[in-house]
This record gives sequence, structure tokens and C-alpha cells, in this order.
Amino acid sequence: MRILVTGGAGFIGSNFVRMLLADTEDTGTGAGTGTGAVTEVVVLDKLTYAGDRANLPAGDPRLTFVHGDIADRPLLRKLLPGCGAVVHFAAESHVDRSLGGPEAFVATNVAGTAALFDACLEAGTERVVHISTDEVYGSVPEGASTESDPLLPNSPYAASKAAADLLARAYHRSYGLPVLVTRCTNNYGPRQYPEKLVPLFVTRLLSGRDVPLYGDGRNIRQWVHVDDHCRAVRLVLERGVPGEIYNVGGGTGLTNRELTDRLLELCGADGGRVRYVADRAAHDLRYAVDDSKITEQLGYRPRVDFSDGLAEVVEWYRAHPHRWEGPSG
Ligand code: NAD
Repeated sequence: MRILVTGGAGFIGSNFVRMLLADTEDTGTGAGTGTGAVTEVVVLDKLTYAGDRANLPAGDPRLTFVHGDIADRPLLRKLLPGCGAVVHFAAESHVDRSLGGPEAFVATNVAGTAALFDACLEAGTERVVHISTDEVYGSVPEGASTESDPLLPNSPYAASKAAADLLARAYHRSYGLPVLVTRCTNNYGPRQYPEKLVPLFVTRLLSGRDVPLYGDGRNIRQWVHVDDHCRAVRLVLERGVPGEIYNVGGGTGLTNRELTDRLLELCGADGGRVRYVADRAAHDLRYAVDDSKITEQLGYRPRVDFSDGLAEVVEWYRAHPHRWEGPSG
């Protein structure tokens, strides 16, 4: 089986490719998969500021890297035949950048996704997993979002992801595209470009600088280790039902201030390094997903303990300064 992974040089995509190629991670549900053994992974990535080839294992003969855009239809027509499955991570992914300029988010997350879906239809791709986010549900003051809840995105990023989710639904209904959607909560882990909270704060703290905390720091996020998210994506790829949506959660819920305090401690810094800054526009107070569907139907169980996982992430950035000293500086 050859799998095309879009955005495979980014944070989550590269961890997913590593998991596929290492093939040490069984999905924990026993025998049989819908996809067969992975013999080859083709990564299609535009290498925006967020993508880095160094995230991928160099020299693995089963890995082919293609530098290109998911909106490039002629390129997709060449790449897709022969791929049994597509896992679609490629996206513009940073909320703050979307507030500054939504165009790239519409071009990649919406038009690019439509181009990819069209090419999958043309090539007869057997399974397409579209990676979405809990941000499509908007802020959830209490309780947890289920897959059938309305989409109420508040940032251009979340709106572009919600639009792509609706395209996935429509392509399944209208054309029978065998597409499955995952909506995960915030991820943390190694190999993330240092602009989002965890890698930004860790790299700033490790280099002796202060950290900018939005508003009053009370925004709540659920944190899932990237390996758990990747295991969930693999489960959906192998066992999910086309046309269905699967929330992925089971992480640790923390306010941004609580998370910051954990990072200060792990980096050996004190509270004086926190600088409160004006809040982000339309900053969602809380996200939380109900993941009982993937848990009950596909046997998803997060495995990484939050304290251990966060400590390992700090250690990864400490051990790889050459990977971040440029971008975060
Ligand atoms: P990322 O920004 O680290 O990586 C995105 C990758 O996509 C980069 O390698 C980039 O070069 C590539 N890319 C961007 N535009 C492209 C284009 N037009 N054509 C080809 N490649 C392109 O993002 P991430 O954090 O790894 O997120 C991956 C996916 O997971 C996204 O769809 C995101 O919405 C979703 N997601 C992220 C999180 C999170 O916490 N990071 C949580 C839930 C869902």
C-alpha cells in the first residue's frame, strides 16, 4: 500500500509519517486493518515557513518527498494514481496568522482541499482522511462538543477548516468520496515550529527570554500528545467508516496560565518571565470534545501521560537548539 501524506513535513504530519515508517505502533485494537501494510509513503508538502524536511527521517527508501502545493491539480493528477490512501494534514494552521491575512487560509485549507478531493475522486483513491480540528465548533463554555454539534468557527483559520469539513461531507454525499474526518484538540510534541504556545514558550524560556501570555491566561485547551493524535488518525484510516467524523480528545484540560506554569517549572524559570499581552481577537475561551465515538467504536485510548510527555517535549527542544534558534529568534 502506498499512502500520500499531505503536509508531511509539518508538525503532526511528520510525526505521523515517522509512526507509519517505524511501524512499531500498532493501534491497540488487535488484528486486521482496512489498508494493508504500508509499503511506501509519499509526502507532498509546499514547505511553507512551518514545514521542514529535517522533520522527516532521511534516507528511508520507503519515503518519497515531493515539494509542491495541494492546489496544484496537474501535480496531483501525477501523484495520486497508485496511492491507496491519502491522509491530508496540509494546512495553514496558525490562528494569529489567519487574523492578519485570511487569503492563504482560504487558498490552501479550502481551495487546496477541494483540489485534493477532486484528484482523489479522479484517481479512485480508496480512503481519504481529512485532518480537522476542535476549533470548528467554536468556544464551548461548558460540556463537550459532539460530532453532530453545529460548526461555529470564530477565527478565519477555524472558518477555513470548517469549510473544508463541509466539503468533505458534500464530496461524500454528492460523489461518494470515501472521506473520513478527524477533529482533534490541541497537540503538543516534538518538531513543532515555534510559534504556537508550547514550542514558542519553551524556546523563549530556554533562551532566557520572557513569554507573552494572551489576556488573563484563563483560556482552556485540552492537550493531546501528537503520538496519541497520530494513533487516532491511523485507527480512523484503518477502521473508520467513510463519511463519518471522529472527535479525538482524551487529553489534559488546562488554562493557558496553568500550562505556562508547568513550562516555567520544566525550563527552570520563574513567574517573572510571564508578560501579559492584549488578548487575541475573538479568542475562544474553551474547547472540549466528546470523544466517546472513537473510543467506543474504534478503541482509541490515549497513552502518553501529560507530565511525562510535556517534560519530553522540553527535553527535545533543549537537545535540538539548531532546529529552533533561527525561527524563534
Ligand atoms: P503545521 O503548520 O505544523 O504543518 C502544516 C504543513 O502543511 C507544513 O509542512 C506546510 O509546509 C504544509 N503546507 C501548507 N500549505 C500547503 C500547501 N498549499 N500544499 C502543500 N503543503 C502545504 O500544522 P500542524 O500543526 O502539523 O497541523 C496539521 C493539521 O492538523 C492541520 O490541518 C491542522 O488544522 C490540524 N490540527 C492541528 C492541531 C494542532 O494542535 N497543531 C490540532 C488539531 C488539528
